[in-house]
Amino acid sequence: PSPRRTDRRLLVQIVPFGGGQKMLISRDITQLEKLETMRQDFIANVSHELRTPLTVVSGFVETVADGLDDLPREDVERFLNLALEQSTRMQRLIEDLLTLSALETGAPAPHEERVDVGDLLRTIAQEAELLSNGRHAITLDLHDDARADILLGSQKELHSAFANLASNAVRYTPAGGSIALAWRSDDDGGEFSVTDDGIGIDARNISRLTERFFRVDKGRSRETGGTGLGLAIVKHIVSRHQAELCIDSAPGKGSRFAVRFPATRLTRRP
Ligand code: ADP
Repeated sequence: PSPRRTDRRLLVQIVPFGGGQKMLISRDITQLEKLETMRQDFIANVSHELRTPLTVVSGFVETVADGLDDLPREDVERFLNLALEQSTRMQRLIEDLLTLSALETGAPAPHEERVDVGDLLRTIAQEAELLSNGRHAITLDLHDDARADILLGSQKELHSAFANLASNAVRYTPAGGSIALAWRSDDDGGEFSVTDDGIGIDARNISRLTERFFRVDKGRSRETGGTGLGLAIVKHIVSRHQAELCIDSAPGKGSRFAVRFPATRLTRRP
């Protein structure tokens, strides 16, 4: 368990120094211990997330190998496809882990690229359409004044953050629902938002959404191909761009995720 605010941990050492005297050194290791607990939790989570699909893959491969002579062809195909699905899931998890670790430890992002907001948002909308496969009504609202907006930042990172929010909206909104992508800007800065009328999130869970591996409903997240790392990645990217992530949601009604950029990150196409 992580230490409470009042629960400080001190490491006290007695160190001898010249003339038979001794010195008492005390170090506050509360934070260190907390980090160590987080590290252990993280490793346990990663191992669990990889072990589950790996067990499924070996199970199916073994079944196919054992029954190669008598299993009907359709069964072989079905088992192999299920095994493939699980390996794709593992690949996605490893990719997300690498992205997260690069964001946490890597050098500062190339934040001075000029990213055309209109182009980026049209790509995000097309990708959301593909993922939705006709199951949702997806709209893109690029305010007239904002069509020439340019964001100063990393094209790759901004794409990844916006795409993550849009794909969550698709994945957590039942078929028949609506998803609205929008961009607004004024003298104070710009805001990208994704609004859905999907399953929504309970107020007590909202503050935990950007924690690594936190999911409100593990089953649903996995079913729709989630790794539980998307919003942790979004949070890092957003803060690397001095932006802010704002989440409003109500269970059963829907959610709105917005990224607000300061005016210093915004310019216009001449
Ligand atoms: P995941 O891969 O599980 O989607 P994320 O980090 O992207 O991981 O999101 C964390 C959790 O936040 C999800 O598992 C889901 O419970 C919740 N969530 C994210 N976006 C939405 C949304 N638009 N509507 C409802 N719940 C959401």
